Amino acid sequence: MTNTLTTENSQLRNQLKLLLEQAHRNQQIMQRYQEFDLKFISSNTFQELIDSVFDTLTEASELDVVTLSLIDPDAEIRRILTDLRIDVSDYPNLIFIEQGVDEITHPARKPSIGPYSTMQHRRLFPDTVLKPNSVAILPLIRRNALIGWLSLGSLDQERFTSGMASDFLQHRASIVAICVENVINNERLQHIGLTDPLTGVNNRRYVERRLLEEVGRTQRHGYSLSAMYIDLDFFKKVNDNYGHQGGDEVLREVAARIKAELRLSDALGRFGGEEFVVLLIDASLDAAVVVAERIRASVCNIPIALTTGENLRVTVSIGVSNLKAIGRKEETAAAAQQFLAKADQALYLAKQGGRNKVVSAE
Ligand code: GH3
Ligand code: MG
Ligand code: MG
Repeated sequence: MTNTLTTENSQLRNQLKLLLEQAHRNQQIMQRYQEFDLKFISSNTFQELIDSVFDTLTEASELDVVTLSLIDPDAEIRRILTDLRIDVSDYPNLIFIEQGVDEITHPARKPSIGPYSTMQHRRLFPDTVLKPNSVAILPLIRRNALIGWLSLGSLDQERFTSGMASDFLQHRASIVAICVENVINNERLQHIGLTDPLTGVNNRRYVERRLLEEVGRTQRHGYSLSAMYIDLDFFKKVNDNYGHQGGDEVLREVAARIKAELRLSDALGRFGGEEFVVLLIDASLDAAVVVAERIRASVCNIPIALTTGENLRVTVSIGVSNLKAIGRKEETAAAAQQFLAKADQALYLAKQGGRNKVVSAE
């Protein structure tokens, strides 16, 4: 009798110990996820968010591959990120789905958990990432709209099996969906704040910010930085003859023609009424003069067609300058201002010299 009791007692104690261990393990897992959620929710920028998805989530959930796919039919998200100088090609696990959303998972709005299938999952795990053996595809839904998928992959075939409970995973996906929407909206706001609403090119604030960045970078890497001040000639007459509306159309067209002559890495901003500034990255004074000459010609050679059916010819004057080596780091801001001022002075000379001209500051 005592013997049986002792055995039972020890069995119970063992069971209790196992249960406690299990509870402890679960608590650790919950804690890891909580830390992850906190890190996630506190992401302010797109970059912080995707770093959290790809690094923290992969680690916290002991996964082999995680991808984030965003539905981006008009490439709007990509355009904003590119304009904000986030290089999406740095993130092979970030996928933009432009079309064919319907063929991705069936049904698209329900989690799909089970073995990896090339047919079904190929687009969510493209050739640039590791191919998993089992996957959990979690739809990201915001305000009833599907915005993308969070795709978790494991090399372990047994990690995700069909029939497995998905509410825990789906909960994680809803947090990711909120955060994705949030940071994209933040980046959109940033983008609006740095864009000129009339022409769609950047504004003065953006160029001034970039100027300091680029001056610093030029000093570190030792390449050449040039600037252009571009001003429309006799623009007041355009307004007088074609109305403010006509003037606005001219500004939009000139901005587009300037942009067409630049490299993606250059920065173009509308500085004021009919004045634009360009920063030419990795361009000597001579190279910048060649680009300026191309811009001058492209504006003056082809008349601008207004929506009223009228055609008019406009010209621009351009001043070009090049940044000289800066002695000390603390002189960066002053040197940056001087560098732009020199282009402005050259512009003044181009106006004095008869307009429709490029003048470089020696
Ligand atoms: P210059 O060749 O010496 O540069 O002569 P200008 O007439 O171009 O120069 P000025 O600076 O005297 O006039 C610029 C004009 O640009 C005055 C202003 O009415 C017009 N302007 C400024 N902002 C806008 C705008 O957003 N839209 C339109 N349509 N016109 C604008
Ligand atoms: Mg002018
Ligand atoms: Mg002006």
